Amino acid sequence: MSAPAHAERAHALLGASGASRWIACPPSARLTEHISEKRSEYADEGTAAHELSEVKLQQMLMPNNSARRKELEKALTEAMASTYYGPEMENAVNDYVDIVAERFLAAKARSQDAVIMFEQRLDFSEWVPEGYGTGDVIIISDGIMDVIDLKYGKGVPVSAFGNPQMRLYALGAWQEYDFLYGIEEIHMTIIQPRLDSVSTDIVPVSELLEWAETVVKPAAALAFAGEGEFKAGEHCRWCKVKGNCRARADENMKALEYEFRDPALLSLEEIGSVLFVAEQLKAWAKDVEGYAFDQAKNGAKIPAWKLVEGRSNRVITDKDVAWKSLEDAKIDDDKFLKPRELLGIGELEKRIDKKELAALIGDLIVKPPGKPVLVPETDHRAELNSVDQDFAGEEFES
Ligand code: SF4
Repeated sequence: MSAPAHAERAHALLGASGASRWIACPPSARLTEHISEKRSEYADEGTAAHELSEVKLQQMLMPNNSARRKELEKALTEAMASTYYGPEMENAVNDYVDIVAERFLAAKARSQDAVIMFEQRLDFSEWVPEGYGTGDVIIISDGIMDVIDLKYGKGVPVSAFGNPQMRLYALGAWQEYDFLYGIEEIHMTIIQPRLDSVSTDIVPVSELLEWAETVVKPAAALAFAGEGEFKAGEHCRWCKVKGNCRARADENMKALEYEFRDPALLSLEEIGSVLFVAEQLKAWAKDVEGYAFDQAKNGAKIPAWKLVEGRSNRVITDKDVAWKSLEDAKIDDDKFLKPRELLGIGELEKRIDKKELAALIGDLIVKPPGKPVLVPETDHRAELNSVDQDFAGEEFES
């Protein structure tokens, strides 16, 4: 593989993946620098998907001699031995690889000299002290550079538009390859195959460089020096002190000081404001609870709180023996066995190849209209006409 193994990558203080946080809240970088990252199953799963995708991309898009082909076969076997590997990962990675292949074909159509690179270490330290990251895919052809990133997670949708992580990768790649290829325009793409999402932000190099000089450079200098102002916001969700940060607490407590005036009932305008505050407080409360729980588990005493045993449900210690005993006693099956039931589409897709599943029951799968949800007006979905819609079962999106 061309870069350090995915799981072994070191993290820079001002890495690209944390850029939206340290640009908005520069002192967060030094504040959190010695706090270790909680290892998560999702991160390990993402690492496995990246390893698999890199092998597949190399196999599909690079001219490999027989020795290299053998090496890649071995790497593929290893990647498929991961505990996270299964039909869902195979399908998602294949979708990603197909999209990258399409982009490379488009680049080749522009110029036969198109080049493609995987897992490149990208150095953007001209703007960010010691800043570097690893770009999944770089394609360059005829003055256009594609910077492509795989996001395997499906919990949080991530868009390429104005995305600081992608922009920093683009800066590093531009710095490295501009003198060779003369790059004028950058296409930054995030592919999130498990959400069927592909977004591409296109910016001229001049705009990227202006952002680097006016936004990134000053914020990075403050962050590196441990200076600047703490600023809470959306970016806090990725911060290692999100549960015990005073600036975030102050910001949220300020939100609680909202003053209601007469008359006795809130107006719809006020309800709109409260909804925003409620969303913010819900996220914060969850993070504070998580932090407090971890502290208590590690033996810290939180005044007025204690750790107790939670509720538990009875379990059958040996299901096979229990089954046999009930069978021997001639109890009817339907009294102690669950009825057979078809799995949901998500589970089926995890266990059966996506194409095979589509061929077998694709015509039986439909997507009914979703239930109405109330979201901020900045949401990209088209607004429903409240007069024409049946709003039975209305709920809030959390
Ligand atoms: S939680 Fe938010 S405000 Fe606090 S340091 Fe982290 S990013 Fe800054």
